[in-house]
Amino acid sequence: MPRDPRYDILFEPVKIGPVTAKNRFYQVPHCNGQGYRDPSAMIKMRENKASGGWAVICTEQVEIHHTSEITPFIELRMWDDRDLPVFERVTRVVHDQGALAGIELAYNGMNGANFYTRETPLGPSHLPIATFTYDPMQARAMDLSDIRDLRRWHRNAALRAKKAGFDIVYVYAAHGFSTFQHFLSKRYNHRSDEYGGSLENRMRLLREVTEDTRDAVGDRCAIAVRFAMDELMGPDGITKSEAEEVIGRMGEVPDLWDLTMGSWDNDSRTSRFVEEAGEEEYVRGVKALTSKPVVGVGRFTSPDQMVRQIRQGLLDFIGAARPSIADPFLPKKIEEGRIDDIRECIGCNICVSGDMTMSPSRCTQNPAMGEEWRRGWHPELIRAKESDARVLIVGAGPAGLEAARALGQRGYDVALAEATTELGGRVAKEQKLPGLSAWGRVKDYRAYQLSKLPNVEIFYDSRLDAAQVLEFGFDQVLVATGSTWRRDGVAHHHTLPMPIAADADLLTPDDLMQGKRPAGKTVMLYDDDHYYMGGVLAELLQREGFVVTLVTPATEVSNWSRNTMEQFKIQARLLELGVEIVTARMLSAVRRGAVETACVFTGRIDTRPSDSVVLVTARLPNDGLYLDLKARSADWAAAGIVSVKCAGDAWAPSTIAGAVYGGRRYAEEMDAADIGDALPFRREIAELLAD
Ligand code: ADP
Ligand code: SF4
Repeated sequence: MPRDPRYDILFEPVKIGPVTAKNRFYQVPHCNGQGYRDPSAMIKMRENKASGGWAVICTEQVEIHHTSEITPFIELRMWDDRDLPVFERVTRVVHDQGALAGIELAYNGMNGANFYTRETPLGPSHLPIATFTYDPMQARAMDLSDIRDLRRWHRNAALRAKKAGFDIVYVYAAHGFSTFQHFLSKRYNHRSDEYGGSLENRMRLLREVTEDTRDAVGDRCAIAVRFAMDELMGPDGITKSEAEEVIGRMGEVPDLWDLTMGSWDNDSRTSRFVEEAGEEEYVRGVKALTSKPVVGVGRFTSPDQMVRQIRQGLLDFIGAARPSIADPFLPKKIEEGRIDDIRECIGCNICVSGDMTMSPSRCTQNPAMGEEWRRGWHPELIRAKESDARVLIVGAGPAGLEAARALGQRGYDVALAEATTELGGRVAKEQKLPGLSAWGRVKDYRAYQLSKLPNVEIFYDSRLDAAQVLEFGFDQVLVATGSTWRRDGVAHHHTLPMPIAADADLLTPDDLMQGKRPAGKTVMLYDDDHYYMGGVLAELLQREGFVVTLVTPATEVSNWSRNTMEQFKIQARLLELGVEIVTARMLSAVRRGAVETACVFTGRIDTRPSDSVVLVTARLPNDGLYLDLKARSADWAAAGIVSVKCAGDAWAPSTIAGAVYGGRRYAEEMDAADIGDALPFRREIAELLAD
């Protein structure tokens, strides 16, 4: 289909200093947890995006000098010329696809403890390291010779970037990750010399480094400043009006402004806390301050929203990190008039959790993310079928849907049997919880793809048992029947069932999602799951008028959601709603009308009244069908069945991203050669130098 002329504006070329972007789709720098440890994997991921139509593909942040590194996080390093081959390959693959390559040079200074190099971190002032792990060391205030050194290191890095073939070279002053931002911000800059005090002084280093970079490489490379528009700290930090003043004063110095928020958690907010285009209020008006092109982000997935951003003069480029991870082919799909094929980011930040846990980033919507090089998975393509096997998939949750979609795309005949009358499994239920409506996109994307595949037939209202499966006689069977929340208290802390009175009013997340509600007014919600469910259900019940106390053995609510950068926001929301939060206590017994909890440190027990209890603990796989079929393996041959497998939560409960991956892996491995005990993916091993 030709592209809708409404979207033509998105495909206009835009000049950025000495280079020209072929359209307005701009993949801003984003981390991916691969970096220097998995460089080929990182490069293939970028290459796929370049082939998906983005005009600009940027690297993640690149440590430019050994005096500033952010161990344990894994980004890129350009400490000397030995690092260049990785960057040369990045620019080659990006250029081969007709895109521009950008590099985000980064000097983290007081934002990294230098655990690897043991160098003293540098910053504008004598202050503790500004990491969220409360590292027990301080940064040293830079003197004028340190500042000269930093300017030289940045200049050398820019020259290396040019040598490696980059088209856009960044000066990074955003997300709280950069010395140039630290100098700008009153909360970090306590200096009394020409680099401290007035705004002109605090912005001096940013201006100088931007000018240095321009002098060094500006003849051939565009210079971009990635810039924090608001630290959301009030007058102690960078405010929007101060940020606008900086742009007003040095708006013409770089060739491009890439706007962000002051901290990463405020920049990459989840859909639970902000809608698409949530940064609009911070970028509005910036274009009046500079003639240079402006990039902004906002989890943009809707082409109409993108057009509005351009037409209203808010932005020149549609910046994207997460939307480009969820759908590396987003620009191509708009260009080809395939809007409904866009795999929209759901705003869950599972991708961020990869970086936070120092593992390759994963994506709930795009199971190929991180697997492009090591397993050869592609975000859009999959090899054609290799047999005429007919496949039965039982369960249409994220795992079953993705398996059916991918096998259908390969050309297999697939029957998808679902017990209920709707697709989506857990996402169909969870999307109705407060703040999670965008999660329904996991189902919506796959349901639409399935509707286009005549070789996939869906059977609703079909709860299958082993006898029926054997009767149907498919060649291959996948059981993807999901999981059930436990009601015996077993989870991280209690690995054995806890005493629970038979007459206690006790509910699980499944009960609540099915519409049941506590019998009484006061509810104790016990969260030993530590991801989103406990906080979401506490919010649901409190909003409905119950008086909720959230008890958790962790020292904060929804502890794992630190990895999705939501923890602070969740705790703040619950406190604002009036939920009582009791941390560091385990539930030890449930009676009718009361609960016993124990301090996780001392074991001291107390009893408190509570009409009802909600247990957000572990889940059990719904693997009954799988086990029944396994038990009847002697009957398979007569039924024509070659294999029965199990995937997703029915195999082992995990994240939605885990279930989608499980479904995709099943589809990818259909008819693949048996590799026995061999490693199922490629990996890179450090080159050994002489001992
Ligand atoms: P996952 O996240 O692993 O995909 P879900 O719990 O989201 O798991 O989805 C499992 C789906 O399987 C649900 O839609 C459920 O209704 C369906 N299901 C469970 N048991 C059966 C069964 N025996 N036959 C058909 N469908 C089933
Ligand atoms: Fe979007 Fe979630 Fe994928 Fe990240 S993991 S790109 S937030 S869908």
